Amino acid sequence: MKVLVATEKPFAKKAVDGIRTIVEQAGYELALLEKYTDKAQLLGAVADADALIIRSDKVTAEVLEAAKQLKIVVRAGAGYDNVDLAAATTKNVVVMNTPGQNSNAVAELALGLMIFMARNKYTPGTGTELQGKTLAIHAYGNVGKLVGRKGKALGMNVIAYDPFITDAAVFEADGVKKVDSVEELYAKADYLSLHIPATAETRNSIGYKLLMSMPKGATLVNTARKEVLDEAGLLKALTEREDLKYVTDIAAETQETLNEQLGKRVFATPKKMGAETAEANINAGLAAANQIVDFLKNGNRRFQVNK
Ligand code: NAD
Repeated sequence: MKVLVATEKPFAKKAVDGIRTIVEQAGYELALLEKYTDKAQLLGAVADADALIIRSDKVTAEVLEAAKQLKIVVRAGAGYDNVDLAAATTKNVVVMNTPGQNSNAVAELALGLMIFMARNKYTPGTGTELQGKTLAIHAYGNVGKLVGRKGKALGMNVIAYDPFITDAAVFEADGVKKVDSVEELYAKADYLSLHIPATAETRNSIGYKLLMSMPKGATLVNTARKEVLDEAGLLKALTEREDLKYVTDIAAETQETLNEQLGKRVFATPKKMGAETAEANINAGLAAANQIVDFLKNGNRRFQVNK
């Protein structure tokens, strides 16, 4: 069995070494295609691969067609919109991602963004502290949980809303108070940390009404997706409420307008960087290799996304 790692932007050496160890200990062969500049190189390399590990590399119908022996593609990371899922399904290729591997990186960034805004973007002047403030977490998944635990460690009063987690013990275990409505969550939030996925239900769901209900001086922190915001409602609320702040890892479509009109009260990272840590990249690479071995040896499809 041949496992191909095809990365235009290579993994760190430590990740490649770890992937090699996992693959070879399973009795498979590892092939590397790094920094390729031409699609033809990828088409050639996949021809005899049984499994494929990628990062942001595009796995199109053409690539899948060229990969005659391919059984599984693992995107080392959370998002997998760079893989043609329909084409993979047609060709009986299992597609997986590696959820949770970059959650700590995103959670640390969320807390960092809160401190940055609390200290006036590190400009001179009197800031505020996170301790004693209410941190409201919208969606208690992989990232939300870590933000909750870190918020507790900073002395914050942490509350969370996630309608898909019915077991109260999940929240209790972290000392987090579960609230029963999104309205209650926003109405109590000094810091609202967004961790909902972009789905048909959540798209454009965070807007004027929820933002206007937030306490005086509140900050909305978005490390999730820009699509979940109603941007017109966000601008309107931030314009009417001069005490509100918005900080994001995913620039809004209207970010330039927000920056121009609201200045100090908004901030967007120059490029999405929540998951951009050495540790997250290594974790995702190793998880991809382990998932491939577990799939080829035991048929484990736990992280399959094209079911
Ligand atoms: P996850 O799948 O572990 O958790 C998502 C949570 O959202 C689940 O607990 C689910 O029950 C909950 N949820 C779904 N619909 C909801 C709704 N309508 N209302 C409330 N809760 C709802 O995902 P995660 O790994 O925690 O990631 C969360 C978000 O962070 C995703 O949108 C992801 O795209 C984004 N993300 C961003 C970066 C970055 O670089 N900034 C990196 C990784 C993930």
